Order: sequence, then structure tokens, then C-alpha cells
Amino acid sequence: MEKPKRLILFTDIGDTIIDEGTEVRDAGGTVIHADCIPGARETMRTIYEKGYPIVMVADGTVQSFHNTMKENGLDGIFAARIISEAVGAEKPDARMFSAAMEEMGLTDGDRSRIVMVGNNVKRDILGANRFGIRSILLTWSKRRPFDEDGPEEHPDHTIAKPEELLPLLDKLEADLEQSEEC
Ligand SMILES: [Mg+2]
Repeated sequence: MEKPKRLILFTDIGDTIIDEGTEVRDAGGTVIHADCIPGARETMRTIYEKGYPIVMVADGTVQSFHNTMKENGLDGIFAARIISEAVGAEKPDARMFSAAMEEMGLTDGDRSRIVMVGNNVKRDILGANRFGIRSILLTWSKRRPFDEDGPEEHPDHTIAKPEELLPLLDKLEADLEQSEEC
């Protein structure tokens, strides 16, 4: 592993890493099987290996994410897992993002180091923008519309597929290191 990065990645799971179209649920609604979006597993593993802290910020149940991350070999990549069932709130609620910062021992001064990636403008992008962290919209899944109701739902960056995430993070990391040298 390379030296730890300054930039911290908060990530959604459904239709950001996992293809929701492949989900199989048990009678209680827990997801017991799901596949990754093509390229997502390799991308997330590489981001992890390059030293970027990755924090899950996802709406759903703890058991569902346990199952799908384990099945797809992504169990070990998360520095923290913030899941709505455990928090008692869903994105865009600030409690999800506060919980992530608290779990990581981050303070308000660290917000410029955080970037949130997700597929949902009403949850991931709005939540991140309101919380004062940067936002990346992944448009791979067409399951939800990307219509924006106002500037708060406008992402700072947009990518079409998971593979585009790593070069973007590398660029943001370089910008961050440069700005902190000044
Ligand atoms: Mg999602």
C-alpha cells in the first residue's frame, strides 16, 4: 500500500458499487445476493490499495451490506460503515454525514478533504452539497432520473462509469496537496 492519502472518499453502495438490478432478497427483505457494477470492484479495490480512506455512507440494512460486500470481496476496504438502519436517518439527512465524520475522527476543518460519490441527486448529491463536502455523481445506472431541483442538487463532478473515479480522485488529491502546501 502507498502512503495514506489526504482525500477521503465517502461512497454510496446501491447503483454506485452494487448493480441494484441484480439484487436477490430473502423473505424479510435482506439482500442475500447482488453483483457489482462492471468495473466497480476493481476500481474500489485499487482506490483502497492506493491509500484512500473509504467510508460507506449508505441507506439500507446492516445485514444486506454485510452480505453483498462479503460476496463481492469488498469486505476489507472500508475504514468505516455508516448505514441508515444503524444511524436512524437516511441521506440526505446530515446525521449520516456527521456520523461518518465522527467515526473517522474528522472535524469541520477536514470537510475540504472529503468527497462523496453516489448515483442519487436527491440523496447523495444534495446531502453532500448541503453538508459542505464535494460531490461526484455516477450516472451508470439509469434507474433514477438525474433531474436537478435547484443548484443544491448539482454535483461538483459527474462520471459515467466506475473506472473514471480513480483518475478523478488522483486529480483532487493532487489539488488538495498543492493547496495545503501554500
Ligand atoms: Mg444509490
